[in-house]
Amino acid sequence: MPYLYTCRQCRTRAPRPRTTCEDAETDQQEHRDAAHGGHAPLDGDGIRRVHDDARGDGLLPRHSCLAALVLLALVLANCWGR
Ligand SMILES: [Zn+2]
Repeated sequence: MPYLYTCRQCRTRAPRPRTTCEDAETDQQEHRDAAHGGHAPLDGDGIRRVHDDARGDGLLPRHSCLAALVLLALVLANCWGR
């Protein structure tokens, strides 16, 4: 999963996600230098992992999540039934 730098204070993010955390940290430093004079923004910034939407397999995780929820509901119902 790629890494994306975002700055909450400027409500902005790096133009593109990076494959490594180190590259995202470079984006972070460049933004801090350019927009905040090298300081850390008071409202916070950070690097988060984003979904790689280039592969177009967005349906699979959603279905897996739904299946996990159904399973969880069944387990809970089983516990309450006792
Ligand atoms: Zn900023």
